[in-house]
Amino acid sequence: MTITFTNARVFDGTSMLPETQTVSLDGDRIVSIAAGHAVPGAEVIDLGGMTLMPGLITCHFHPDFYRFTLAQGLAGDPLGKEFPPGVMMAMAIRNGRVLLDSGFTGYIGASCSNDVDAQLKIAIAEGIVEGPRLRACSPHIGTTGDLNDSKLWWRKQVTPGTDVFFDGPDAMRRIVREYIRRGSQTIKIFASQGHGFPSRVSRNMDRDEIAAIAQAAHGRGAKVRAHVADKAMIMECIELGVDILDHGDEIDAEAIAAMAEKGTFWVPSLIYPKCLLQLGWGNADMQRLYDHVRDTLPAAQAAGVRILAGDDYSGVFREVIEDDPLDHQVGNYGREFGYYAAIPGLNAAQVLSWGTKNAGEALLDGEDRLGVIASGVLADLIVIDGDPVADPAILAHPQQALKAVIQSGAFTIDRLPPGARRTAGTGQGMRAA
Ligand SMILES: [Zn+2]
Repeated sequence: MTITFTNARVFDGTSMLPETQTVSLDGDRIVSIAAGHAVPGAEVIDLGGMTLMPGLITCHFHPDFYRFTLAQGLAGDPLGKEFPPGVMMAMAIRNGRVLLDSGFTGYIGASCSNDVDAQLKIAIAEGIVEGPRLRACSPHIGTTGDLNDSKLWWRKQVTPGTDVFFDGPDAMRRIVREYIRRGSQTIKIFASQGHGFPSRVSRNMDRDEIAAIAQAAHGRGAKVRAHVADKAMIMECIELGVDILDHGDEIDAEAIAAMAEKGTFWVPSLIYPKCLLQLGWGNADMQRLYDHVRDTLPAAQAAGVRILAGDDYSGVFREVIEDDPLDHQVGNYGREFGYYAAIPGLNAAQVLSWGTKNAGEALLDGEDRLGVIASGVLADLIVIDGDPVADPAILAHPQQALKAVIQSGAFTIDRLPPGARRTAGTGQGMRAA
């Protein structure tokens, strides 16, 4: 099917283009962006100055973190991370739908239980459920007795759940290959403590274990992402080829230089510590690191570090913060853009590129193009009534601002005005489907 959008303001993944543009799709691709005429027979949609932009992509997503409760965590249960596999999949289907309804056409997994990401991806590809384009992640891989394995050993999960533990480079190599065989495209490791997970020692796994994980993952075409917070472990992860640093609380000028050289992605994920501090549950060290990351982000952006949007959405603050920003509710994911854009030294276009251009590079790893508006790129797009560069906060209100979601060139959500459509060459109006 051929679709041409006319009279569109375009955010192309980097900046808002001047004036209005004409963007044509053919099948699952963007084929042109320019002023010009639609090909005869094409469906023409007059956006009347609304914004056409790449579909948003959240890049630290746990699809099955939904029933977190602090009560469970304090009681020694793993925070409500573990339910039977089918229940976890039900959460993932629900949360995938909330992403689409929020204007997010993609997510990059940051760990899941029971191969939920990989199986959801199959269900979406088979047309069984609608959901975002996704990059499947493994569970959290850690080591025996580490910070995720440090209490109530007699209640340890025996199912293949969210947190799994192995020791030694050979075991790491084998389990990485096993998860890749089962569909994981990213391997998630807990390299260090920090970011709200205190521990007696910083190091969570040995250097030779991280090296074996990176070598095994890259050898099979997968990425590695690491929960890492302290400086020494950050530098070790960058050096050993970890592709995505999650949190990275102590990233500084030296780390920024190394990340820029290696092309390492960074998910600062500041909403989680922001909530803890707001509740008065963070200590002085957490406040210091939260301020440090805010102060460091502009330098990382200027150095060309590929920063990504995303956070630990889970509902963990559902019972203690009114309107929990990390609950999986329509509009919450988009709140991040307004938050980061308000940091002195950053602007909205830069922050929007975290959830579009940078995210597309991380999701598809160069195998195809996504997250920008250019010829030949996969057509995952949204239509926003308003200017998200002038006012990124509108992305937190998709019920009002989100007028269309297009996945692989086809409409998933269509709230465009009926009069916007006609067929090129006939001059006749067409009603919205
Ligand atoms: Zn996480």
